[in-house]
Amino acid sequence: MSESVRDWREYYREMESSAPLVIYYPLCGGGEECITACPYGEKIWEVKPMKVSLFGVKEKVRLRPVMANPELCRNCQLCVEACPTGALRPGDTPVRHPVLTLVYNTLRLPFKGKYNLKFVFRKEHVERFRKNNGLEV
Ligand code: SF4
Repeated sequence: MSESVRDWREYYREMESSAPLVIYYPLCGGGEECITACPYGEKIWEVKPMKVSLFGVKEKVRLRPVMANPELCRNCQLCVEACPTGALRPGDTPVRHPVLTLVYNTLRLPFKGKYNLKFVFRKEHVERFRKNNGLEV
């Protein structure tokens, strides 16, 4: 594991201080649904390596979305709605109970309008999930 790779908590704290949103990275699957949904996706977001677990299991280096240019964010929260796990949220309502948040958001996924299971399992998101979690594409 590269020593230069930062821990997810550092990115979390940066978002807390500079953006209207935060990502609780242990709940982020890395499918980049947030970047797809954002009207300014490529201008605001980047994916960066960080040390983090996937849904609380086995911490290792994974690629995850970070807000490279938070000043461009309009706080429309389309990305929040598109996040399938509840990891991405407004900064004033951070994740308090990770397991409950994951279960709640997983159960509501089939009933979400535009950002339902079909959206999450789009080919591009499946490929990004695999790539960002170090799995074969
Ligand atoms: S709140 Fe809106 S503008 Fe800001 S990152 Fe999310 S989708 Fe993009």
